[in-house]
Amino acid sequence: MDPVLREELILAKLRERVAYAWERSDFYRRLWGSAGVGPNTLHTLADLRRFPLVTKDAIRDDQAASPPFGSNLCCDPAEIARVHGTSGTTGRPVLFAISRDDWERIGAAHARIMWSFGVRPEDTVFLASFFSLYMGSWGALAGAETLGATVFPYGAGVPGQTERSLDYLALVRPTVFYGTPSYALHLAKVAEERGDDPRELGFRIMFFSGEAGAGIPATKARIESTFGATCIDTGSMAEMTPWMTNAECDERTGMHLWDDIVYTEIVDRDTLEPIDGDGEGVPVYTHLERSSQPMIRLLSADLTRVTSEPCPCGRTYRRLPEGIYGRIDDMLVIRGANVYPHVIENTLRTTPGLGVEYRLVVERPGELDLLTVECESSDPGVADEVADRVQRAVGLRARVTVHPPGTLPTTEFKARRVDDRRATASPL
Ligand SMILES: [Zn+2]
Repeated sequence: MDPVLREELILAKLRERVAYAWERSDFYRRLWGSAGVGPNTLHTLADLRRFPLVTKDAIRDDQAASPPFGSNLCCDPAEIARVHGTSGTTGRPVLFAISRDDWERIGAAHARIMWSFGVRPEDTVFLASFFSLYMGSWGALAGAETLGATVFPYGAGVPGQTERSLDYLALVRPTVFYGTPSYALHLAKVAEERGDDPRELGFRIMFFSGEAGAGIPATKARIESTFGATCIDTGSMAEMTPWMTNAECDERTGMHLWDDIVYTEIVDRDTLEPIDGDGEGVPVYTHLERSSQPMIRLLSADLTRVTSEPCPCGRTYRRLPEGIYGRIDDMLVIRGANVYPHVIENTLRTTPGLGVEYRLVVERPGELDLLTVECESSDPGVADEVADRVQRAVGLRARVTVHPPGTLPTTEFKARRVDDRRATASPL
């Protein structure tokens, strides 16, 4: 689509969504009223920057004050079709009330985007992720169903389920896989332990969300060579469902921003002002189609780089060439250096002979921070090479501990591989 025409469409949808929220949401009337903006503020897309940013904390506080769904519920409670939410492991959970017509639009958006990376009605989609409050599996299910593919909602997380999945996969022969990158690598390991070649499982396309791995070049390459499939990175935030409005096409040049479904601004990480043109920053998302709980300028905590360079697929949507490669709150400051865990992951994935699991431990045993990289290999002598590679990548000498293969905890869902023990250490 011509980008100029698309901007006109986005502006029209945005004005309609802002007017809708102004009419129905106490949350936005309060927020915008105090900032002196409203439906008449929007003459161009650039005017959106005058609207205040919304934080996840503000949504959580609002739901605590107006339980259960907050003062931003814009639909009639009788229209709510599904309740989802965050896991609540880091505080009060946040609930998502999704209306029936929103669910249909979510299915349509995901179907359209899944088509862009090659899924077709002839495919069978194996959904190997939790069917719980977590939105990812349900969105993938809705998208695959709307597209007309066959769905195989296998799930994850039950003891022994991965081992049994190999028998199911041999029987059903799905062509598309959905889950987290960690889980795919775990599945490959289980298959190999049984003497099976993961390439024989027959996946053509593997798409991922919930973790950054599918956008990390070495992890992507490892998944593609292990399974002989195309590895597709997708995802934004559960609050922003349809979360797949960030998604790679089948050219795999980084995630496109499907801006006519969720309009995405990239803001400077310090000033929080939108950057002009291409560059690094933090995504700010705005729903253009959601009616139940529209998010307008929701600030993520993610770090990315955006480009308007053309993609060989011909789509004119901007792209995030390296995906979402960090979270602002993920960055570790170790001995004064800024260290992003994804950079170390990329280094480990390109080191021959290492297993898929790893862990980063940061401590302060004395005056200085100590970074320990724990990895798996049958060759303990690989430690020096790992330390050299990590030093070249992040500028720090790390202590490297090599464990025998299969002894680090395995990851089936969202990997938690960073253990920063400094924050909890006694200040004495
Ligand atoms: Zn493309």
